[in-house]
Amino acid sequence: MVNSKIKAAEENLLHVYNRFPIAIERGEGMYVYDTEGKKYLDFAAGIGVTGLGYHNQELNDALKEQIDKICHISNLYYHENCGEAAKELNRICGMDRIFFTNSGSEANEGALKAARRYAYTKQNGRYEYIAMENSFHGRSFGSVSVTGHDSYREPFEPVVPGVHFAKFNDLDSVKALVSDKTCAIILEPLQGEGGINLASQDFMEGIRKICDENDILMICDEVQCGMGRTGNYFAWQGFGVKPDIITMAKAIGNGIPVGAFAMTEEVARYSLRAGDHGATYGGNPLSCTAVKKVIEIFEHDHIVDHVNQVAPYLEQRLEELVKELDCAVRRKGTGLMQGVEFNIPVGEIIQKAIAEGLLVIQAQGNVIRLLPPLIMEEKHVDEMIKRLKHALAK
Ligand SMILES: *Cc1c(COP(=O)(O)O)cnc(C)c1O
Repeated sequence: MVNSKIKAAEENLLHVYNRFPIAIERGEGMYVYDTEGKKYLDFAAGIGVTGLGYHNQELNDALKEQIDKICHISNLYYHENCGEAAKELNRICGMDRIFFTNSGSEANEGALKAARRYAYTKQNGRYEYIAMENSFHGRSFGSVSVTGHDSYREPFEPVVPGVHFAKFNDLDSVKALVSDKTCAIILEPLQGEGGINLASQDFMEGIRKICDENDILMICDEVQCGMGRTGNYFAWQGFGVKPDIITMAKAIGNGIPVGAFAMTEEVARYSLRAGDHGATYGGNPLSCTAVKKVIEIFEHDHIVDHVNQVAPYLEQRLEELVKELDCAVRRKGTGLMQGVEFNIPVGEIIQKAIAEGLLVIQAQGNVIRLLPPLIMEEKHVDEMIKRLKHALAK
């Protein structure tokens, strides 16, 4: 029987999502509960958002306190949370200047504009972008224009002109596209949606070198792989290859909608000026409370260290699973951003997993993507493997 909450959604919402037929009511730590009271182990974290899991009391208390003071004031005025959140975010991502957005798409949109604005100041005639095949950068016009799946762009052509797609981890294919028109190269250091594909060290270093030699900006989209997920605060730190602009969102607010793009002082000097860009809600007192508090909790709970402690166990159990199953091809990814590639479509497996009380998500190329809250412990890995095996046996 279809539950009344699902019926209301079906009748009133635009049908752009393929939702699973469950209605989630609340969450607690690593688990969520549906309206029928059924419990699910969550290895999806709302698509990599709830790094601290659900119902973090310290975060909730801070948010409640802020709601009672003020939620919104606009960027016509200062609010202390905004500056403090930016300072903390700069510290952990290694940049100098932050612009707050409300989503990942919007962060990428801003980064793409920032790169063109940089070229405009320098009057160097550069406006083109190089992006990667199998990338995902969002659904707004700019972000979809650099997204490397034809099906996402085609219905909306003509999209932003001047975008060329290179093969991920193939430096020669990038070099072949570089011209005196290229203003930026955008990539995810660890592709999420595209199938959990980790950039190679050589690829990251090679792109940095191309950018340095040609005054091209390197933009790292860390919307999914940032904020602790790979065992560093930001994935670029694992390569020691520093981009010029970083985009982020998802886990930085743990569920409060907030994103950001961040750049070095050097780029900021030539980039967006007063009046060039804005967002009414961007960095409002509530979302900045979330960012500030999330970082504070990451620090005192040593979340990044914890990721490095538990990730090897997850990898080990997934490797065992791959060996055991004929339908599994390989494990992919790093930290708590993992995928298992299958030689069969995974949609049905995911549906069965949900029936078994386990939330996991799909990625391109028959990949089951695992993005557990970063507070995950080894016992949750055991439980996940058990439920996934049950689903596969059905
Ligand atoms: C989710 C995601 C986006 C888009 O973020 P939204 O908040 O949905 O706009 C952009 N880039 C990457 C890598 C993502 O995973």
